[in-house]
Amino acid sequence: MVETKNEPRIGVFLCHCGTNIAGSINIEEVKNYAKTLDGVVIADEYQYMCSTPGQSKIIDAINENNLNGVVVAACSPRLHEPTFRMATQEGGLNQFRFEMANIRDQNSWVHMHDLEGATEKAKDQVLIAVAKARMLEDLQPKSVPVEHAALVLGAGVGGMQAALDLANAGIKTYLVEKLPTIGGRMSQLDKTFPTLDCSQCILTPKMVDVGRHPLIELRTYTEVEKVEGYIGNFTITLRHKARGVLDPDQAAARAAATGILGTGCNGCGDCDAVCPVIKPNPFEMGMAPRKAIYIYHAQVMPLQYTIDFDACVKCGLCVDACGSEKNAIDLEAVDTFEEIKVGTCILAIGFDLIPIEEKREWGYKQYDNVITGLEFERLICASGPTVGHLIRPSDGKTPMKIGFVLCAGSRDNTGGVNKAYCSRFCCMYSLKHAHQIMEKIPGAVPYLFYMDIRSFGKMYEEFYYRIQNEGAKFIRGRVANILEDPITKNLIVNTEDTLLGRPVAMEMDMVVLAAAVQPKPEAEHIRQMFGVSKSQDGWLLEAHPKLNPCGTTTAGIYLAGVCQGPKDIPDTVAQAEGAASAASIPIHMGEVQLEPYFAMCMEDLCAGCGMCLNQCPYGALDLIEKNGRTVMEVTEAKCKGCGTCGGFCPGGAIKMQHFTSPQICAQIDAFLLKGGVN
Ligand code: SF4
Ligand code: SF4
Ligand code: SF4
Ligand code: SF4
Ligand code: SF4
Ligand code: SF4
Repeated sequence: MVETKNEPRIGVFLCHCGTNIAGSINIEEVKNYAKTLDGVVIADEYQYMCSTPGQSKIIDAINENNLNGVVVAACSPRLHEPTFRMATQEGGLNQFRFEMANIRDQNSWVHMHDLEGATEKAKDQVLIAVAKARMLEDLQPKSVPVEHAALVLGAGVGGMQAALDLANAGIKTYLVEKLPTIGGRMSQLDKTFPTLDCSQCILTPKMVDVGRHPLIELRTYTEVEKVEGYIGNFTITLRHKARGVLDPDQAAARAAATGILGTGCNGCGDCDAVCPVIKPNPFEMGMAPRKAIYIYHAQVMPLQYTIDFDACVKCGLCVDACGSEKNAIDLEAVDTFEEIKVGTCILAIGFDLIPIEEKREWGYKQYDNVITGLEFERLICASGPTVGHLIRPSDGKTPMKIGFVLCAGSRDNTGGVNKAYCSRFCCMYSLKHAHQIMEKIPGAVPYLFYMDIRSFGKMYEEFYYRIQNEGAKFIRGRVANILEDPITKNLIVNTEDTLLGRPVAMEMDMVVLAAAVQPKPEAEHIRQMFGVSKSQDGWLLEAHPKLNPCGTTTAGIYLAGVCQGPKDIPDTVAQAEGAASAASIPIHMGEVQLEPYFAMCMEDLCAGCGMCLNQCPYGALDLIEKNGRTVMEVTEAKCKGCGTCGGFCPGGAIKMQHFTSPQICAQIDAFLLKGGVN
């Protein structure tokens, strides 16, 4: 390491970023200005500071000029702070003796037509960065060990893929699913676009792999109750919802603990046959019944019945039907809790459809023959409520003219249930539905009411042409409303044909709404428990849309699938694989280094008042007894360095490392003493 002296010896490096910065800022003028600042011993510039030659300039300058501080004036620290910290370290300095001035995003990009003003502002930015750099201290990252296990929350296709990848990498993985089975939305689909594979046929082997994998601990009918800890050391409390039916392992455990015998549930279905309580089946989108004791669908994993205790009247008929040999049913079952320890977590909690019935003009839930795309999936599916016969709900007749309303609630910024974003997979599934109709019902004609067809994936555009050639009709324009003929129950779709430039009204036997997708209602609670941010439209927020699309701003928490934003199955699986890879890295490393940007309690100044305790959004603060006094303690691994507590403490007892009060005061002083605000 280069010996650092008390006297500041700062190097300032200015980046052109091609013309991104140099096109709007006079770099030469800022460089010459930097040379005049107290403590600056060298100022230099380069076309692309983040390139290898750019970094070499920093490394060489540290050695040649015995620098003890480095300032780079370039882009955002979010993009390249780690790059330049590493260069600082390679030069022999502590990596935290580095400061960045964002003269691109915060200057040249917003003042691109004001060379003089932008140049003056860049000088101020460099002045302020140098003022802080003069007071930088050596900081040491902290290492924490990482638990050799992971959590995947949500067992749809994304969650299953992530769990399989983690387990195949040798990591014990808890796959937690709130429903009684794994499989998610994909198990509700009939076929998948554009290959037209049977959805269950490609999903079931994956479900079996998950069920059989020795390193996957499956926790179905289970929710996350509490999340504590930080990367490497999460403690997750799980709530196993009362299922009322024991699987063979649970029955064996009961026998060992209580002496009550029974082989447990084998999925025979005898209980289902006798149960008198009938409820709408959510898997069939309410279009078929199910009993109070049920399996979610025919290919459930695990094959274990579940009692809906909200509907069960505890008549006991199922217990008698099950019999004393299996003795699988426990009508007095209650929720139980389990605590697991994991190093990293992946959230793959999926999506819901918007409540499209709130768009009254489209008639869903008012007119029998207006259905959603998911309902269509179940109607056309051979294992669905009509054994694959597409019929009109109003009269059971086969529809011959079927309208598909695309962008139903998507790409619409008028508020209410509407969403400004594109739901991304409804164009393609509507094309698939059109194909299925023409394949199954000779003479039937699908009419697609669309704004644009977004067929962006591999082989998608070709699939679009194929459906056109098969005879589907396309009407370009947003549907205004749908009205029902009360006698025939046919539907009149009122829209504008923007290609013909006139309004049209078309009579359909049935209409399918490609309803927009939205985050699940529980997503808000889950994201708060895991400390994950959300985007403006409510989806879980990735750390960076391009450079870190699977990570979050909370270390150790990753995202997969539609919970991060609308995406189709291939993209979901790809992101799940990315998330699994990212989540496995800290686990395989065995320990992680935490940046030392955390709060530090100066105990001699702390009065133990506890006022800061509830200010911390990450639960990183605790009052402890130490040497006969009550003082605040910071759990460094939980602290995100947000500074809330530091700004709040009335006694000034909390020091924010890398953002100390003297550093901030020095920046303010430098700016004000220089003579004001531009
Ligand atoms: Fe552009 Fe930042 Fe690289 Fe400079 S360091 S070239 S501003 S990306
Ligand atoms: Fe399971 Fe018993 Fe029902 Fe058969 S009767 S499905 S063993 S709970
Ligand atoms: Fe159905 Fe409940 Fe009666 Fe069993 S006890 S048969 S689940 S209503
Ligand atoms: Fe509309 Fe197609 Fe986007 Fe769905 S995918 S919102 S139908 S443009
Ligand atoms: Fe009170 Fe400050 Fe100590 Fe927190 S750090 S307990 S606010 S004196
Ligand atoms: Fe909590 Fe922020 Fe203080 Fe850290 S800096 S202890 S995260 S309030």
